[in-house]
Amino acid sequence: MCLRGKRAYLIAGCLGIVMLCAVVVVKTRVAGGSIPIWGNMGRNTAGRECGQEEHDGSEGGQAQNAGIQGEDAGGNADGNARGMGSRDGVETAYQEDMSVKKVALTFDDGPHPRYTEQLLEGLRKRNVRVTFFVLGQSAELYPDLIREMAQDGHLIGNHTYSHIQLTRRNGQRFAEELQKTDAVIFEITGQHTEFVRPPYGAWDKRYEESLNMIQVLWNVDPLDWCCSDAGTVVSRVLEKTDENSIILLHDVYASSVEAALAIIDELSAQGYEFVTVDEIILD
Ligand SMILES: [Zn+2]
Repeated sequence: MCLRGKRAYLIAGCLGIVMLCAVVVVKTRVAGGSIPIWGNMGRNTAGRECGQEEHDGSEGGQAQNAGIQGEDAGGNADGNARGMGSRDGVETAYQEDMSVKKVALTFDDGPHPRYTEQLLEGLRKRNVRVTFFVLGQSAELYPDLIREMAQDGHLIGNHTYSHIQLTRRNGQRFAEELQKTDAVIFEITGQHTEFVRPPYGAWDKRYEESLNMIQVLWNVDPLDWCCSDAGTVVSRVLEKTDENSIILLHDVYASSVEAALAIIDELSAQGYEFVTVDEIILD
């Protein structure tokens, strides 16, 4: 082969190697870019005592978003575990392509001076946002906790002022309680409460227009208010939670807070992403 021919052969060879390297780099980037990063994973277990006073709603409670369940919100995932072969000592990276599943934790009846504070701390450590449906009277007593919730990016919803149940006779007072609570929250955070968790799930759709407030129910109810064992609450929730679930808990019991943090750790490990309830309702 003549010199020119050898040179051309050499250049073609080099180009081939460069292109091969480029393909490997691009493939590695694509694969690496979709690796999900999960938060801290710890695990709390065991239950402690808690009070058993009042509760919200019934087994019949249905989250408003029930209709969107089952849609392919996850999108693209091809679902295969993918492996990148390695050459020249480059590490082989295996990754499972897990689509993100949204889930919302909601807490009613707070804020509680002790347990809400513990919960906020645990959420901060895990970098998780939740939704609090607070009572106006408790918000007045503990404005610092409301401020903390807002600062940490949690969604603050309305649970009436004194936890009254809507009946045929008290519609006016019920509306006033929602407005009063909204005023308390606005005073503390500068934000209005758009979302309402009506105590016991009793609601009148007309408030949606007259008060500009949206009802939010739930579809996972572990009955934490009557169960002092955090482990039991955790397993009840894990059993029923699915994509776009809205989980009902109460941040006024030690066991519920303990359970909530364990639920977050476990569902995070399963690929769930915790969002505030508006992201599920309005999606
Ligand atoms: Zn309640």
